[in-house]
Amino acid sequence: MKTALITGITGQDGAYLASFLLDKGYTVHGLLRRSASAEIIGERLRWLGIIDRVKLHDGDLIDLSSCIRIVEAVKPDEVYNLAAQSFVHASFQQPLLTGTVTALGAANMLEAVRIVRPEARFYQASSSEMFGKIQEPIQSERTPFYPRSPYAVAKLYAHWMTVNYRESFGLHASSGILFNHESPLRGIEFVTRKVTDGVARIKLGLADTLMLGNLDATRDWGHARDFVQAMWAMLQQDVADDYVIATGRTTSIREFCRMAFAHAGLDWQDHVRTSDALLRPSEVEVLLGDAGKANQALGWRATTTLEQMVAEMVDTDIVRHSARIAGRPAV
Ligand code: NDP
Ligand code: GDP
Repeated sequence: MKTALITGITGQDGAYLASFLLDKGYTVHGLLRRSASAEIIGERLRWLGIIDRVKLHDGDLIDLSSCIRIVEAVKPDEVYNLAAQSFVHASFQQPLLTGTVTALGAANMLEAVRIVRPEARFYQASSSEMFGKIQEPIQSERTPFYPRSPYAVAKLYAHWMTVNYRESFGLHASSGILFNHESPLRGIEFVTRKVTDGVARIKLGLADTLMLGNLDATRDWGHARDFVQAMWAMLQQDVADDYVIATGRTTSIREFCRMAFAHAGLDWQDHVRTSDALLRPSEVEVLLGDAGKANQALGWRATTTLEQMVAEMVDTDIVRHSARIAGRPAV
């Protein structure tokens, strides 16, 4: 029976990964940062019904001593570093915090593993945002990076530190360059969930309009449940490496809106409005990934279609808001 330590266990991917590993028989530990709103923090783990099956440890990614203490206590076979300030838009407003958590926080976890548990396998949550102003129409492991936000710059630092610790210290450290992946557990600030939540509110008469920014950008959107399986598969390889994880299909925000509103029997053009206030100082216009290497080496491929995911997200948000209206808990 293996033991895993997940940083960012309360986030979208952390929750799905914890569930996946528990099903595989792992003992799952997570790093939990202190919050004055502790009752909200475990919402995703509660939603998946696993909050009582994971072991949570107080700590913070920016506190090296807590990273070391937790790695020492848990003695993990596998460490998944998913914690980050993960929202691109916020990274323009909080660039230093983003660098401290998303870049240096990853270095802290690498150091903790190197010092205390060098035999553990390490996964770093890298991002397609590192491709930014794309240098090739379809991005693979060989495509040069061109980050376009403080978030992407921070992720690039963490990515190269992971490669460096593999090459310098022989750590089994892999980096997954994941394209956008969504789910009903996606943070409400990201565009997909903002749209499906908006559709649910409008459908139930709680709102009439939804304000968005750039509708022309396109993203290669997959389902988080599929993508966390690739993280695990990377750590089962004899040799650590870096892999692009993507669906190979890119869709505009405008088309995502059309699909989500149509699923609820609505016309998006009646409800979506745009505001310049939601535009970013520099934008990533297009992302489209080639996951051929992961397919060949890991046997991984995305299985959930965008249509299936949109339907699941809209239906779940309608259930959530209906429960709220009825005064019932959604979970
Ligand atoms: P979320 O934003 O949902 O989760 C982020 C997690 O990091 C939360 O558990 C959060 O805790 C935790 N966290 C933030 N700051 C700290 C800190 N200082 N110390 C400890 N924990 C902290 O992200 P996702 O689950 O969507 O993504 C997982 C990882 O994958 C992230 O690193 C993200 O940048 C990366 N990624 C995500 C993609 C996506 O499309 N989802 C695409 C590519 C990469 P709390 O709950 O307390 O806020
Ligand atoms: P990102 O790819 O990690 O930045 O994920 P997001 O979901 O935050 O943004 C995806 C794309 O949607 C970006 O090009 C945004 O500019 C665009 N977008 C348009 N309107 C909005 C909005 O209201 N909120 C967010 N988050 N993104 C928006």
